[in-house]
Amino acid sequence: LLELDIMTKTEVAMGKKLLLINTGGTFSSVPSEKGLAPGINLEEIMKTIGPIGDGHTFELKDYASLDSANITPEDWVAIANLVAAAREDCDGVVIIHGTDSMSYTSSMLSFMLQNIEMPVILTGSQLPLRAPLTDAIDNLRCAITAGLSGMLRGVYTVFHQKLILGCRTSKVRTISFNAFESVNYPLIGEFNAFGMQVLKEPLRRAAFQLSPEYSENIAVLKIFPGMHADIFRYLYDKGCEGVFVEAFGLGGVPFLHNNILEEIDRASSKGMSILVGSQCRYEGSNLDVYETGLRVQESGGIPVFDMTQEATVTKLMWALGRSKEREDVRKTFFTNYVDEVTLPRLRWGESVFLP
Ligand code: ASP
Repeated sequence: LLELDIMTKTEVAMGKKLLLINTGGTFSSVPSEKGLAPGINLEEIMKTIGPIGDGHTFELKDYASLDSANITPEDWVAIANLVAAAREDCDGVVIIHGTDSMSYTSSMLSFMLQNIEMPVILTGSQLPLRAPLTDAIDNLRCAITAGLSGMLRGVYTVFHQKLILGCRTSKVRTISFNAFESVNYPLIGEFNAFGMQVLKEPLRRAAFQLSPEYSENIAVLKIFPGMHADIFRYLYDKGCEGVFVEAFGLGGVPFLHNNILEEIDRASSKGMSILVGSQCRYEGSNLDVYETGLRVQESGGIPVFDMTQEATVTKLMWALGRSKEREDVRKTFFTNYVDEVTLPRLRWGESVFLP
């Protein structure tokens, strides 16, 4: 892990312009006959949270009223386009989003909007804005503070007074207010009585690029003892282009009674991209330790190291949108675009693109 280094603290800077996009979720939900459903627009939301700082302009975009279970890759592209267009005249963007799939959206936007020069902040809440114990007001006020701070670039999630890199965010709790964590990566910042404290800002590597391509032809398979190996053939026959295998521990895959490795080998040699990571949320996979891991690599499995499940899935969709070639997908997974992955350090003379 990187060393934490407290860089700065801030209050909201003066006279900035922020684009607010509402996509729905619990945040804007109201009771309906069929349970909680999104129903409040941004004008009402802004009235409820009250004034923030002086002289700022807020452009309000009610994009949708969706439970985030219904967010699709087409929504990611539409949101990425809105954000890219806002670069012309805004200092930042805040996106209100349902919490359930928010980490997928923050991960995919990280890839689609890589190297963006302004902050793109996703937030949501565990309770609706009008609930007595709501966390919506605090989360949005913190998110707007981050958006207006002038101190951040890139895609982030703000939740429960934490500032987390978008591609390292996971929802880890269903009802606690502390629902999100930064996985295998330091917290970017936190909000306290000093304002927003940035503990670690990731580096910007190159010029901004909007890359909204994606493929939906992927699958995620969680290995379990006794799993039948022929699922890979079925997926291949159905036109699946890539599979993320959530393997055991550091990345172990069965090869004795249920020979899943043989199927990974067969599918890989036909051109399907098969990623192998861990079912464990923390500390990542490493295919260099056990016989099973080394065999995975020999069979063509592509390691995902310490990426989150959400970042792995969205990076696979994004990679396949740019090229269907297995070798290109492999190179994409051996490239760190937005600090989504910690790649193993190379020894002198080794190449990262060769097995
Ligand atoms: N079901 C809601 C959603 O993801 C949950 C939330 O927003 O907290 O849209």
